[in-house]
Amino acid sequence: KALVLHERDEGIEQAFEDLDESRLKERLPDGDVTVRVQYTTLNYKDGMVLNGLGRLVRSYPHIPGIDFAGEVEESDNPDYKPGDKVVLTGWRVGEAHWGGYAEKARVKGKWLVPLPDGLTAQRAMALGTAGFTAMLAVMALEEHGLKPAKDEQVLVTGAAGGVGSVATAVLANLGYNVAAVTGRAETHDYLRDLGATEIIDRAELNEPSKKPLEAERWAACVDAVGGAMLGRVLGQMAYGRAVAAVGLAGGPEVKTTVLPFLLRGVNLLGIDSVMCPTDRRLTAWKRLAKEMPQDKLDEATQTAKLEDLPRLGKEILEGKVRGRTVVEV
Ligand code: NAP
Repeated sequence: KALVLHERDEGIEQAFEDLDESRLKERLPDGDVTVRVQYTTLNYKDGMVLNGLGRLVRSYPHIPGIDFAGEVEESDNPDYKPGDKVVLTGWRVGEAHWGGYAEKARVKGKWLVPLPDGLTAQRAMALGTAGFTAMLAVMALEEHGLKPAKDEQVLVTGAAGGVGSVATAVLANLGYNVAAVTGRAETHDYLRDLGATEIIDRAELNEPSKKPLEAERWAACVDAVGGAMLGRVLGQMAYGRAVAAVGLAGGPEVKTTVLPFLLRGVNLLGIDSVMCPTDRRLTAWKRLAKEMPQDKLDEATQTAKLEDLPRLGKEILEGKVRGRTVVEV
């Protein structure tokens, strides 16, 4: 059983279908592992794929789902045997390859990682690409020299979303003072529970400033929003500090000048989760299992069924989904 997308003249049609397993092998004949999917999830990119946006899918019919966790059922890959518990994020699964919104998925063994010690399949999907990417952003900022300091603040934008919720909780747990930007007043208590010590209204940062440089305010930023907000934040970074650019929930175009880079030595660190090399993946998952408090993760997670995905796919694009969504398959 799978959620299958078809391209029609009127747009993308979403249908629940029973497919013959041989179709998976036709699609990926040299893929060497078949996984029984137990959980999948909803990311912003899944919302785009479900609604045919961003030209992410070039060939239909298509099965979306950029993440899944489950058990190996069949394997020609020496690294995996039937029964192994595995997690997949990225590698363009759910975009260029059929993904996790199905009871079974067939992928290359090198795209999988073993389910990290200390995480259940469900919690691995509560993290999913969004959580994994939040960890990659924290790692990049640390490699750039970031350390917790009492009198400094780290900014997280799109804080009540998936990337933002995990970034907020992980950073707070590591001892950072987190300032969380949100456009939803009803999420303030939630963000404080995750560990934010200050809440900033989205409207305050969503307008370009008249000045290219403003007062130095942030020791680092995990930015899930891009657009006008990223341009604004660059002009508010403290000397020599860095922004990890993760997302584009507020749009892909950034209006800025080079002055934050030239006069304040500000750095913009690009974060990509899709093609992230395996060693770094394993490090990020290990750290998530340790450094994302599981009670906070559970608090940030809602559960859903495959049948809910068409509705949720629209809601995430409208910025209406709070935290993370785990889908039981
Ligand atoms: P999400 O759950 O929808 O979170 C996005 C959040 O951004 C929303 O919850 C909202 O937070 C805020 N937002 C939405 N529209 C906005 C707007 N017009 N202006 C300002 N803020 C807005 O999505 P996600 O799964 O966390 O992903 C976040 C972004 O990261 C997406 O653009 C996604 O494509 C990207 N991403 C990139 C990678 C990578 O590899 N680089 C990996 C994962 C995700 P508030 O309600 O709190 O304001």
